Amino acid sequence: MFDYFPFVNYPLPYSFEEMEPYIDIQTMYLHHNKHLQTYVDNLNRTLSEYPALQKISLENMLTDIDRMPEGARQSIRNNGGGVYNHCFYFAGIINMGMKPFGQLEEQILKQYGTLAVFFEQWEKAALSVFGSGYAWLVLDAEKNLTIITTANQDTPLELHLKPLLTIDVWEHAYYLKHKNLRVNYIKDWLEVVNWERAERLYTES
Ligand code: MN
Repeated sequence: MFDYFPFVNYPLPYSFEEMEPYIDIQTMYLHHNKHLQTYVDNLNRTLSEYPALQKISLENMLTDIDRMPEGARQSIRNNGGGVYNHCFYFAGIINMGMKPFGQLEEQILKQYGTLAVFFEQWEKAALSVFGSGYAWLVLDAEKNLTIITTANQDTPLELHLKPLLTIDVWEHAYYLKHKNLRVNYIKDWLEVVNWERAERLYTES
């Protein structure tokens, strides 16, 4: 899913209107074709000046962000993170009315008691992001689930956490439809979560 320089903004595996009525067509279009494209272009521009980095995968660069050359580090954090996070976000949605199932659901129930409690915690975390960022469902080294938030385009990779699911709560992800009501966007987003992908990432870990 995440490869090497030169990075490409691959088409989505679904149409822009597919997330209607939860995420509107114009937001999907601008988010993918404009916002993500800019991160891809800026990342490529930076890496074009660092041939050694062109042999390192995006995931590895972000995991070892502190070891990246100083002149490229901030751009990789912002633009590389922007590519990684957006690809993860777009791959994590599908409009099929899915619910958590399988081993991931079992683990959620084991740790949170009920799905309602889990969703409540998720909403609280996603609402708590001040300014721009993401909420993530991640696995730690002991294979425990945790909900975390990251600022801007920071990723869970540098924290050595394995991401399963993310919601982008930058205003550009919802403002056209949901305006200032991020909570409504979070509720709508929950309708289009690709729980099959999250389950796959959980079971393969
Ligand atoms: Mn975004």
